[in-house]
Amino acid sequence: MENILVVGGAGYIGSHAIRSLKAAGYNAVVYDNLSKGHGSAAKGFKFIKGDLGDKKKLLKVFAEQKISAVMHFAALAEVGQSVKEPALYYKNNTAKVLSLLDAMVEAGVKYFVFSSTAAVFGEPIKKYIDEAHPKRPINPYGKTKLMVENILQDYALAYGLKSAVLRYFNAAGADDTGDIGEAHTPETHLIPLILQAALGKREDIKIFGSNYKTKDGTCVRDYIHVNDLASAHLLALKYIQKHNTCADFNLGSSKGFSVKEMIDCARKITGRKIKTQTVARRAGDPAVLVANSKKAAKALGWTPKYNLDKIIATAWNWEKHRKY
Ligand code: UDP
Repeated sequence: MENILVVGGAGYIGSHAIRSLKAAGYNAVVYDNLSKGHGSAAKGFKFIKGDLGDKKKLLKVFAEQKISAVMHFAALAEVGQSVKEPALYYKNNTAKVLSLLDAMVEAGVKYFVFSSTAAVFGEPIKKYIDEAHPKRPINPYGKTKLMVENILQDYALAYGLKSAVLRYFNAAGADDTGDIGEAHTPETHLIPLILQAALGKREDIKIFGSNYKTKDGTCVRDYIHVNDLASAHLLALKYIQKHNTCADFNLGSSKGFSVKEMIDCARKITGRKIKTQTVARRAGDPAVLVANSKKAAKALGWTPKYNLDKIIATAWNWEKHRKY
């Protein structure tokens, strides 16, 4: 059985990935500092509390756990916060990743699956963003992730570290079991905030800007279910191992929904009233971000299984009965 170190495995996407790994016959070892993650999200898995920047500890873990590959989910991922606190982002999302990569090189762990983001592209110059689209991030979050992408190219050439760069569009939804889901403090993401408004836990949902050049003036995003992202990680890992190569994939549904459409869909799924309030734009937000995921479909055989209704239904199931 292959042992995979899942850094950030107690977080939102990581906790879904460890279940997919387990279901596929891997042994997922969770490494998390629990600064954002939830211990209960990793229940039933080997858990090591540790920091991404702790090279010494990582070297020990690699040796003791006989790790053959690493999936890295531990990052700060809020565009707005990254504009206000860039130092935090460069430290956590870029500088500390070097400790992890250096530990991997030293320990001879060769395969790395990296969570990147659509935010590396900045303002799109075409409707569907493929891997070759120019990468000109417009916020610190996107810049920190692009820096790691560039570092990975150089580490591949110099040290033979093989990576899969997976650029998520908007991760969304929750596991069908309702055992795990999205839980950030404070919550800043659209779907949980809409659903909390539906539950009456919030007065309303704030719409960040209604004068974008989009179908209804609100931002358009490509929402992709966490379990579909998790399955892409498995396929990407197998791919880079089999071909002993690096690869990059844009992961989205290739469908764009506006903030207003998301709220309407949530009204339909929940049957609840959801009040809205239009406020100023949020700094760092491009108008439209939609993926072209043909490369992942072709090379990995990856096809998303959850449509928007299912994404919101699973998120609603989680939000109503949240365990943490
Ligand atoms: N958004 C919004 N109100 C909120 C939170 C988000 O209108 O309270 C918008 C945001 O401007 C963006 C989209 O919803 O266009 C998705 O934002 P989110 O923070 O969920 O994900 P991101 O796109 O930052 O990864």
